[in-house]
Amino acid sequence: MAIRRICKYGEPILERKTRKVDFDAVKKTLPALLADMFETMEAVGGAGLAANQVGVDLRLAVISIKREDEPPVNIVILNPEITEKSGVSHEEEGCLSFPGLFAKVRRAAKVKVRALNEKGLPIEINAEGLFAKALQHEIDHLDGLVFVSRLPLMSRLKLKPALLGLKKKWKKMDESRLNKTDNAS
Ligand SMILES: [Zn+2]
Repeated sequence: MAIRRICKYGEPILERKTRKVDFDAVKKTLPALLADMFETMEAVGGAGLAANQVGVDLRLAVISIKREDEPPVNIVILNPEITEKSGVSHEEEGCLSFPGLFAKVRRAAKVKVRALNEKGLPIEINAEGLFAKALQHEIDHLDGLVFVSRLPLMSRLKLKPALLGLKKKWKKMDESRLNKTDNAS
């Protein structure tokens, strides 16, 4: 397992629709990729990570739902599609590809998602709250949509100077360097 570098805003792969997963074609390499994605997400304290955020052009994402006093629930979605949406939520979001940036995004409060799990089996997920928000955020990534593109024009204009400032810092960030290569402590 290894922590991978996370692509930051401005890298073209984040704004391209990902390629549908052919389960049989990827099943041998999938466990290692998913293990790396979970490790990367945990290392930076994220709730979700899409494959294109680690430079892999595949329609898949991992999500980790944290619960109080219990181990997190880890979910893998391959080829996810939202089949139903209802209600409205308008809450603050962040993104591992935009470290340090947060903004309120309007989304559905509840969603139904169809996908395949890590074994290639069909699943249907009914989600609300944080889980619904994470699913919509990750599926947007897989469609090549970053969360700031969901903001109204005025908010995007206001964020522009902050974004430009942060972008310079992001260029130098490489999460893969968080890999522990020795135990010097
Ligand atoms: Zn994100």
